[in-house]
Amino acid sequence: MPLNSSNDQTAARVRKTSWSGSTATARHPGSTGGGARWESVPWAARRSHLGRRGLAIGIDIGGTKVAAGVVDPSGNVVEEARRSTPGNDARAVEQVIVELVQELGRSHRIASVGIGAAGWMDLDGGTVLFSPHLAWRNEPLRENLQSLLRRPVLVTNDADAAAWAEWRFGAGQGESRLVCITLGTGIGGAMVMDSRVERGRFGVAGEFGHQIVVPGGHRCECGNRGCWEQYASGNALGREARELALRNSPVAYELLKAAGGTAENITGVTVTERAKAGDSASRELLEEVGHWLGLGLANLAAALDPGTFVIGGGLCDAGELLVGPARTAFTRNLTGRGFRPAAAIKLAALGPRAGMIGAADLSRVSGRAHG
Ligand SMILES: [Zn+2]
Repeated sequence: MPLNSSNDQTAARVRKTSWSGSTATARHPGSTGGGARWESVPWAARRSHLGRRGLAIGIDIGGTKVAAGVVDPSGNVVEEARRSTPGNDARAVEQVIVELVQELGRSHRIASVGIGAAGWMDLDGGTVLFSPHLAWRNEPLRENLQSLLRRPVLVTNDADAAAWAEWRFGAGQGESRLVCITLGTGIGGAMVMDSRVERGRFGVAGEFGHQIVVPGGHRCECGNRGCWEQYASGNALGREARELALRNSPVAYELLKAAGGTAENITGVTVTERAKAGDSASRELLEEVGHWLGLGLANLAAALDPGTFVIGGGLCDAGELLVGPARTAFTRNLTGRGFRPAAAIKLAALGPRAGMIGAADLSRVSGRAHG
């Protein structure tokens, strides 16, 4: 059932008050009838016309699972369902999406559906240009799904969705220039600038993980060497720890023990867990990754000048053990340090559901254009 409790209304009122007077705009897909396009809508107009009270489904398509949730206008997930990601078959993924929407739609009145997936979407939000985990290549996903689901559908990049959620409901609230970094196996990036998801001229902005920080460094799957994500991700943390253990370093004793004596079994998660338990070698490894993180953030600050960086993703379980050293390296490498304000570096607030919440909310605020 749609949630209209007094608590939700109170939360909406609080947000409305804090944003009143803002000249913020939201970008949304234009009418599909006359050729889809993105346009700006004054925030006040969006607030009064774009179905704030409706429930939306957010679907986060990962490499191994498809997670769906019914999200209310305050960003709360009221019901969830999930399936395994069906291999490399575009039609099968669409079928799973249809099943999840049908399942969740039985007990909720759903106004719109937002899909977040790794990959590049065109600026109209309708076509997946490329998705690394899935079989989508120039796939007109929105059109396919809108005819199957008979509801407005928005397709977006998962990092963009997570950034939008952190800006609307999480650690980035109230920030006019927000950069979000998601640290997982690689590095995801996205920006919310002046109340819009900023996606660049061709829709592929935010590939911060592939800025080269060490020319000639570690090989990256993108084809280059020395990319930031080879130094400041969960994969980088695991690789460095395995290397330490394979050298039979006595400082890796705790890590090896935690991995059952097999260096190859050490992952970024092993290091994070050991570091939290107090192992000094694991803390050093996290400090090193934190250093690279801060260095890359300083590069981004030089180019983009955000007010806040929000750092999310699985590696953030390490908390201050990671972000503390990142802040130090950021301050040390910031262009113009001492003569300019420095951006805040905050941990994400919404956890692994950020992508789902953001995709749902983006579909809701974009709803009128498709309705
Ligand atoms: Zn790369």
